[in-house]
Amino acid sequence: MAGGPRILIAEDEDAIVLLLRYNLEAEGYEVETVERGDLAEERLRDTVPDLLLLDWMLPGLSGIELCRRLRRREETKGLPVIMLTARGEEAERIRGFETGADDYVVKPFSMPELLARIGALLRRTAPNRVADLLEAGDITLDRRAHRVRRGGEDLHLGPTEYRMLEFLMERPGRVFSRAQLLDGVWGMDSEIDDRTVDVHVGRLRKGLNRSGDRDPIRTVRGAGYAFDETYGR
Ligand code: CA
Repeated sequence: MAGGPRILIAEDEDAIVLLLRYNLEAEGYEVETVERGDLAEERLRDTVPDLLLLDWMLPGLSGIELCRRLRRREETKGLPVIMLTARGEEAERIRGFETGADDYVVKPFSMPELLARIGALLRRTAPNRVADLLEAGDITLDRRAHRVRRGGEDLHLGPTEYRMLEFLMERPGRVFSRAQLLDGVWGMDSEIDDRTVDVHVGRLRKGLNRSGDRDPIRTVRGAGYAFDETYGR
C-alpha cells in the first residue's frame, strides 16, 4: 500500500542509494531507485513521483540532460528536482540551475540538510502531500488520526478507500486513469486488475456519501476519476 510522498532516486553509487533509501523511508517517504539516467527517463514516463533526487553523473543519460528533457515534457515540467553532485564549483552550480533543477546538493552532503531541503521543496510544490489535514467543504481527512469526517461525523472507510480518498484529495481537479490510480493507491508494482479500481471507487462513494449528499468524486468518461476541485467552494 502506498504511503507518504513518493521520491524517485536516480543514482548509480550503491552506498549513497542505500543511505538515501534508509533515511527517506525512516521519514515516511515511499522510495524507488534507478541506477541509470535512461532508466529514470523510462520510469518517469510511466509514473511521476512527488520529487526526484537526481545524480549529476549517471550512466545511460546524464542527470543534466535528463533534467533538461523533463522540463520540456508537460507531465514533468513542474516535477521538483534536487540535483546531487560531487562538483561544487560555482560554474557547475549555475549550469545545474540552468537545466531546471529546483535545488542542488553537493556530495558528500549532510543527511539532515538534505531532508530539510526535501521537506521545504515539497511544502512549496506539493503542500497537500505533507499537510496533516486535508479539507474540502464539509469533508476532512486527518492524516495523523487516520480519520475521515463529513459534516462533523466520522466516516468508516476501508483502508483502500481511505488511501484512494487521500490520493484524490491531495490533487483536487486532476483526473486519474485507472492505471494511474492503481499506481498511486496500491503502489508502484501492484498487479491488480483495472476493474478493481471501479469496485473501490464504488465503495468509497458509498462510504462517503449519505443520501442527499453531493458526490465529490467525479467520473470522467473515457478518462478516469477526479476529486471535484469545486467541491465546498
Ligand atoms: Ca554518479
